[in-house]
Amino acid sequence: MDGRGGKSVVVVGAGIVGAASAYFLAQSGFRVRLIEAKAPAAAASGAADGAVSVASKRPGPMMTTALAGIALYRQLDEEGLFAGLFKQRPTVMVAEDESEVESLTGHADALAGEGMALRRIEGEALRRYLPDVSSGVRLAIEVGNEGHAIGYEIVRRLIAASGVAVERDTTVHGLVESASGRSVAAVATSRGRVEADHFVIAAGGGSADLIGLSGIVRPRKGQLAVTERSPTLNAALPGALMSCRYLLSKDAIAGAAGTAARRFGLVVDPLRTGQFLIGGTREETADTGNDLAAIRHMLASAVRLLPPLARLRVIRVFSGVRSATRDGLPIIGRMPGRDNLVVATGFEGDGICLGPLVGQAVGRIVAGVPSELDLRPFAPDRFGQRSLVA
Ligand SMILES: Cc1cc2nc3c(=O)[nH]c(=O)nc-3n(C[C@H](O)[C@H](O)[C@H](O)COP(=O)(O)OP(=O)(O)OC[C@H]3O[C@@H](n4cnc5c(N)ncnc54)[C@H](O)[C@@H]3O)c2cc1C
Repeated sequence: MDGRGGKSVVVVGAGIVGAASAYFLAQSGFRVRLIEAKAPAAAASGAADGAVSVASKRPGPMMTTALAGIALYRQLDEEGLFAGLFKQRPTVMVAEDESEVESLTGHADALAGEGMALRRIEGEALRRYLPDVSSGVRLAIEVGNEGHAIGYEIVRRLIAASGVAVERDTTVHGLVESASGRSVAAVATSRGRVEADHFVIAAGGGSADLIGLSGIVRPRKGQLAVTERSPTLNAALPGALMSCRYLLSKDAIAGAAGTAARRFGLVVDPLRTGQFLIGGTREETADTGNDLAAIRHMLASAVRLLPPLARLRVIRVFSGVRSATRDGLPIIGRMPGRDNLVVATGFEGDGICLGPLVGQAVGRIVAGVPSELDLRPFAPDRFGQRSLVA
């Protein structure tokens, strides 16, 4: 891509998608303004697990896109942009009872059918491979070539490398239509109007209201816990442990009085630091905050799966809110009827994995360069709604 004559772009939202968009646009010679209501990674990107993974995906557009997302992490790691931030490790999915073994086997067959590198481990080999896990685990499927990254570290690196100064504490309240009515002229912000040639809405859960997709993008909270360091136990685990329940989502309990029911999907991820990240819940609410019932349930499940975790202290719990769409797919592309407006939102639990790739795709869309990705399943017009421009 060339300099595009130094045209200007406003990117709304400094999460991983906005930061990556700003980076790739700046690389292509656009003059970028990155407008953020709070601070970089203040929302989901700063409160995520960070699995850069395809293990839990079903075959289809999300799996294909996630594979491309992982490949880009590896490339940016090798090129130095993500140096020290991307931990390459496998994901190890584990099954305990008969129905889990059956589900996991079916899922592994589907992944293998897509050409993914898998290893099936059982019996004595399983005990040698995962000496610390519960003896109740009967089958492990290792999915290779995956990794982990901390969302806010990636955001910080992308913004620093882009050379773009984040305009913090600046909320975009609406879009201002051009005289022709076919494009956007400016965004109305809490600090006044900002004009540009192009606009990118990458505001996570704040995107829907700006582009008339309220009701299509819904909040889905997740709670996570981080332990103290245990380098020996950490090093003995080949990769992230993912309970098959994550696929089945059968591990649901009612929420505390007055709150929505929630699902638990157990993941125990050995971090670069020697700590463990334990997650997480899926709750149909935008409330942030942690509650003891959920944390207790998560930790008890984690200790049951990996008993030596019982010796470690939890040093931090946190929660974040994912943006989930009605059909489970993100929204990426030009908004219908607005030539210079691109949206990228609705990444639910996949935005850390997909963020850099989507930023690259957004850069290409804005520049008018054909994308290497098939973005048709993610088209914003699939909901039959038009963008709202105030
Ligand atoms: C608990 C949890 C676990 C997760 N685990 C994983 C995982 O393992 N792997 C994975 O790939 N993904 C994971 N995710 C998902 C991932 O975090 C998100 O999909 C991703 O961070 C979304 O990035 P984003 O840039 O679209 O949105 P966000 O990070 O939400 O950023 C949007 C930004 O826009 C700003 N904004 C909003 N409205 C406005 C406005 N009107 N004006 C200006 N600025 C505005 C916000 O302040 C925010 O900074 C997880 C998420 C959660 C919550």
